[in-house]
Amino acid sequence: MTQVYDDNNIFAKMLRNEIPCHKVYEDEKTLAFMDIMPQAKGHVLVIPKHPAVDLADMTPEYAAAVLMTAQKVMQAQRQVFDREGIVQMQFNGAQAGQTVFHYHVHLIPSSIHELGRHGSEQADQNELAEQAQQLRDVIAQMSAS
Ligand code: AMP
Repeated sequence: MTQVYDDNNIFAKMLRNEIPCHKVYEDEKTLAFMDIMPQAKGHVLVIPKHPAVDLADMTPEYAAAVLMTAQKVMQAQRQVFDREGIVQMQFNGAQAGQTVFHYHVHLIPSSIHELGRHGSEQADQNELAEQAQQLRDVIAQMSAS
C-alpha cells in the first residue's frame, strides 16, 4: 500500500525553494533538476508539483505533464551528451528501491548495462551546474524554434 505523503521530503522542500537544486526546466506542473548522485553524467530527475508518493498517487494531468517534461529533457540530453541511449526509470515503494517519497522519473544518459550504483556518490557541484546550464540552453533553443 502507498505510504502517506510527507510534506517534508527533500523534493517537496525543493519545490518550496527551501533547498537548492540545479534546475534544468520548470513549468506550472513540473520541475526537472540534476540528480546530485548521478548514475551517469547528465542524470536528471523530473517531478510533478503535486503531492504524489509514487505512481499510485499520480493524476492523468500530472502524469502527462511529467512525461512532456521528460521528453523535452531527454531530447536535450541527447544533444548535450551526444548519445541516443537514455534510460528512463522510476521506483514505486521502498521495496522497489525508492528512497525519496515524492514521485520522480530518472532520465539517465547511459545504458541498462552500464548504470552506476544508485545514490552512491555525490557529483561535483560545478559540473552539475554546468550540465544544467547546457541542458537549459538547448531546451530554450528547442522552444524558440
Ligand atoms: P529513488 O531511489 O528513485 O527515490 O531516487 C532518489 C534520487 O534522488 C537518487 O538518485 C538521489 O541521488 C537523488 N537525490 C537525493 N537528494 C537529492 C537532492 N538534494 N538533489 C538532487 N537529487 C537528489
